[in-house]
Formats: sequence, C-alpha cells, structure tokens
Amino acid sequence: MIQGFPFFKRMRGIPFQGLVSFLLVVAGLCIHDASGEASTSVDRITIGAGMPAAAFLAREIGEDKVDVITALPEGSNHEFSSITAKTVSKLLEARVFLTIGLPFEEQIADSLQNRNPKLIIVHLEDGIRRIAMGSAHDHADHHHTPNCHTGTTEDPHIWMDPLNMIHMAQALEAALAKELPSASDALAANSKDLVERLENLHETNLSVLRPMYGATLLSYHAAFGYYADAYGLKQLAIESEGKSPSARKIADMMSPSKEQMIACMLIQPQFDTPPIRRLASRIGLPAEVIDPLSTDYFGMMERLRNVLLNHYSKDPET
Ligand SMILES: [Zn+2]
Repeated sequence: MIQGFPFFKRMRGIPFQGLVSFLLVVAGLCIHDASGEASTSVDRITIGAGMPAAAFLAREIGEDKVDVITALPEGSNHEFSSITAKTVSKLLEARVFLTIGLPFEEQIADSLQNRNPKLIIVHLEDGIRRIAMGSAHDHADHHHTPNCHTGTTEDPHIWMDPLNMIHMAQALEAALAKELPSASDALAANSKDLVERLENLHETNLSVLRPMYGATLLSYHAAFGYYADAYGLKQLAIESEGKSPSARKIADMMSPSKEQMIACMLIQPQFDTPPIRRLASRIGLPAEVIDPLSTDYFGMMERLRNVLLNHYSKDPET
C-alpha cells in the first residue's frame, strides 16, 4: 500500500489560513510596526516571495539591492507547518511581496497586507497563458488537491517554461525600478543579462529535446506540464488528488508506455520515498530526482535536460 503525499498538508487540522493568521499575531508581538515608518528613499529593500522561482528572479535582478525572504523554503515538504513565526516576522518587513499565481500566496499576501498596508503585492503571473492541469488523461480528479496549490484545473507550475520566466523577470524589473529608482540602471542590466540566459536556455532545450518530440514524461507529481508544452512533449502524472493510485490504475496507465516512449520516472525530492522508489522499479523505470522548487533554476533545468537526454536517447528496445 502506497501512502498518499498531499502536496500541502494541513497542520494538525488547522487550515493554512488559520495558521498564517496565528503566526502573524505572534510575529506582530515581537516586531515594530512597519506601517508606522516614514516612507523614505532607500537603496536596499526586503522582498518576500511565495515560491522559490520568484525568489530566484528577485535575487538575480535585485542582486545586492535586495534581501529576499521565501515563504516556502527550499527542500521543505510543501507543508505550511514549515512556515515559522520567524519567517512570518521577516515577511512583515518586506516592502514588496511577489506571487506567481498560487492560492496560498494570495492568503499570505492578504494576511501580510492587513498588518502592513504599505506592502506592494506584485503578481508576476499576470499575462501568462495558463494550461490545463494533467491533460495527459481526462480523469476529473487529476489535479492538485484543493489545499495544494489550486482548487481549479489550471496548472500552477508556470515557471517550468523559461519563456514564462522571461515574462516574470521583466515584470519584476519594472516593479523593482519603482521601489529602487536610484538602482534602475543596475536592475535593467541584471534583467537584460538574465533574460539572455533564459533565452539561451530555451534555445538549447529546443535543439537538444527536438529528437524526443512527442515522447511522454512520466512524473510522480504533475509539475512538468509547461515544460512538456514548451518542447513538444507530453506529461503523464502518477499522483492523483495527492495520493498514489491503486496498482490496477498504475497498470492501466502503464500499458501504453511503449508507444508513449516513457524512459524514466521523475520524482521531486519532497516525494522521494521508498514506496515511490518501489513503484518505479515495479514499473521497470529508473527514478530520477528533479526539484522544480529549487532556487538554482538554471542548475535544475540543466539537470532535467541532461536526465531526459540520457534516458530518452537510448534505444527503448534494449
Ligand atoms: Zn506542484
């Protein structure tokens, strides 16, 4: 029996919203009231980000002009029990909070703004085309659990397409330039450099992945929809409503694997457990760990490309 792994668990039955409110109250007891400070020109600001991909963009573009606080720490098990009162109190010092469209970020943003009305919320996801979640098969239940990222069937993993990262980098630079006018030239130069690196990443991905056009990426968690969409691949996700499916369902899913050209199973470190490793070996596929929540975006993308190149360039009959 394979245990379920809800993407965002509730903490001992306390809904996340309640947990944030509680932590905000606790944090509010030990910090000064940020809203009471005079607004003066500054040359360094604190930026809060919900997700690691947004934190990555803020560090790359803001460089030494910013302190970046991520609500979801790298390597966390996606559970909001990992947001500590200390993190919340640091987030309360932020001048800007970055979201990329996940409902939990909205909850944090609302809670922070209640405490600090001057907080500027920047929606980096605005204008990005959304794809449907889990389009590889049409089970109605094939999306994240409502207390995961989303109660809808829109795929939230927009950062897995480098072109979406370019869009978000440009939106971020515009927002930061307003807050740090004296650094606008440096911000523009950093943004330009980052955009060029993202363009190069995309071009390299296009050429390296072209021979595997139409192949299926098998992932435990459905985090690769935008990546698959960008490079002519398909995503097949095992996890359903935060739980592993039954053995029979797995067998059904795997039966067309030869035509679908599946060569490995991608798992995130947050889900890298013995039951999931056993599942991979039962299906007869090597397991490869890729962390879409890494703050080392280029390293993660390079590893993903190399993993696919390694497994999908082999003769599937051997
Ligand atoms: Zn996810």
